[in-house]
Amino acid sequence: LTDKLTRLVKQMRGQARITEANVQDMLREVRMALLEADVALPVVRDFIARVKEKAQGQEVLGSLKPGQALVGIVNRELVATMGAGVADINLAAQPPAVILMAGLQGAGKTTTTAKLAKHLVEKRKKKVLTVSGDVYRPAAIEQLKTVTQQAGAEWFPSTPEQKPLDIARAALDYAKKHYMDVLLVDTAGRLAIDEVLMQEIRDLHAALNPVETLFVVDAMQGQDAINTARAFKEALPLTGIVLTKLDGDARGGAALSVRQITGAPIKFAGVSERLDGLEVFDAERHAGRILGMGDIVALVEQVTAGVDQEAAQKFAAKLKRGDGFDLTDFLAQIQQMKQLGGLSSLMDKLPSQLSAKAGAMDMDRAEKDMRRKEGIIQSMTPLERRKPELIKATRKKRIAHGAGVQVQEVNRLLKEFEQMQGLMKQMKGGGLMKMMKKMGG
Ligand code: GDP
Ligand code: MG
Repeated sequence: LTDKLTRLVKQMRGQARITEANVQDMLREVRMALLEADVALPVVRDFIARVKEKAQGQEVLGSLKPGQALVGIVNRELVATMGAGVADINLAAQPPAVILMAGLQGAGKTTTTAKLAKHLVEKRKKKVLTVSGDVYRPAAIEQLKTVTQQAGAEWFPSTPEQKPLDIARAALDYAKKHYMDVLLVDTAGRLAIDEVLMQEIRDLHAALNPVETLFVVDAMQGQDAINTARAFKEALPLTGIVLTKLDGDARGGAALSVRQITGAPIKFAGVSERLDGLEVFDAERHAGRILGMGDIVALVEQVTAGVDQEAAQKFAAKLKRGDGFDLTDFLAQIQQMKQLGGLSSLMDKLPSQLSAKAGAMDMDRAEKDMRRKEGIIQSMTPLERRKPELIKATRKKRIAHGAGVQVQEVNRLLKEFEQMQGLMKQMKGGGLMKMMKKMGG
């Protein structure tokens, strides 16, 4: 699939504006990519509609092709939807700050409870108490005890004979008396949503008045994540999401679905079974993962950042005044390429099958070639750069000598320049800026 997307990105060259026509195929592929990453269908539909709206008539920046520009728009919209920036755990409450964990069975609640405990103990130097309200499986309480001890936090005992609400109240009471900073409340999950479970957690929420109600969701949960998220959102005022098992090979489209349905920020990502396997969620990185083309995205961002808009505009103004395209401009173009990090670094960012085709050796050669051209132009006098027609045999020899190259190479560069100049003349007037942007790469 990524192959196909890449091919489309390449096909869409030669157009300076994103149009209805050239965007259809791309969007179809993006839609497929999202569905394959297990983003829920209604969420995909909304998303594609937003991207389409943003993309219509958008000018294509710098040396980007419209297809690449569209990938950029898709990526930015993904990041915006999942929430840019860091959302840390909120402890702004009269201690103990209560954190309630919610989610299906097996989502990773107990593990995440211990991970959070460890984080709060070690990084934020808090006194942390954990308690399990999972009275349905005796092993669940033992599990929390074990991992809490590993996390270096304190564990409040409970038994399967107790009611979850009584356990929670007793733990809260204990936490207050012992000046705990944080009380983490682990809860029972069921294999599927059921009303008893939902009522139970609603009651817990009412009794505990938590500052954080975290919805723990398995990144591997596919299309169904949307239904789970909806049920929990209806039952509880969620304040954050923890996306677990991101170390698996799921593309993690659940992030997009769950975020859109609940409106709550994705605060953490679980990246291993171990207690140090908790990371602050990174929307940018995750966007690349969902699209399955993180490298192209990086390339697009690099090009967008590297293009010197001011220089481009000056250049355009100059052409309009009729000063013509000279070797100094040609040099500027070559240098802009270099500014983008060099060809081989750009090639590194393309999907492997593409860069393999280009071949690492060739890229090295192309880069050397670029440096040589730069050297040749730099060996010219300002007058020669402005009036290349002055460059005859003697001057050529001098320039070649200065740049440490053969005269043939100077000839080759001059020919290339002439071709470029011809192109520049053709595009004077009309679509000047657009054409120029295309030439940038
Ligand atoms: P709960 O039923 O919601 O309490 O889920 P658990 O915390 O017991 O986790 C269920 C399983 O998922 C356990 O085997 C955990 O070790 C595993 N698990 C939880 N979080 C992660 C994670 O981020 N990565 C991986 N690989 N496994 C995880
Ligand atoms: Mg559990």
